[in-house]
Amino acid sequence: MNKRSAYRKRIVKEPPTLDLFKPVGTSMRTAQKVILTLDELEALRFADYRQLEHLEASQKMNISRPTFTRLISKARHKLAQLLLEGCVLKIEGGNIEFRSTVHECQDCGETVKQSIEAPLKDCQECGSSNTENLADKHLDSD
Ligand SMILES: [Zn+2]
Repeated sequence: MNKRSAYRKRIVKEPPTLDLFKPVGTSMRTAQKVILTLDELEALRFADYRQLEHLEASQKMNISRPTFTRLISKARHKLAQLLLEGCVLKIEGGNIEFRSTVHECQDCGETVKQSIEAPLKDCQECGSSNTENLADKHLDSD
């Protein structure tokens, strides 16, 4: 029973456009790295950015309320750790599925949000066909 729910994918609205943060003056080689998973970021987005109740947030992510509470607690601990210890923050991983995605132009940096099934299109800003689906990047890393 617990095993099955542990494998149930957590719903995340869309991949983040920024997934690496480094404190000024630290070195990527020597700084301690903190990994924030995509479901932990989504928990922060709901509870602390949009300020939803935990029950509503847990329903949106398709997890139980106690699971949500554990998730947000872990995420907040990691943020406190990186602020106090000056860690590099990398956002990756987690047992998740996206509802929509972001296509980022590799030439001009323009981003477009669209549903996860929609095909990759040329950049609306500069016309380049060199666009990346940010969801693929995160789903590949699992
Ligand atoms: Zn472009």
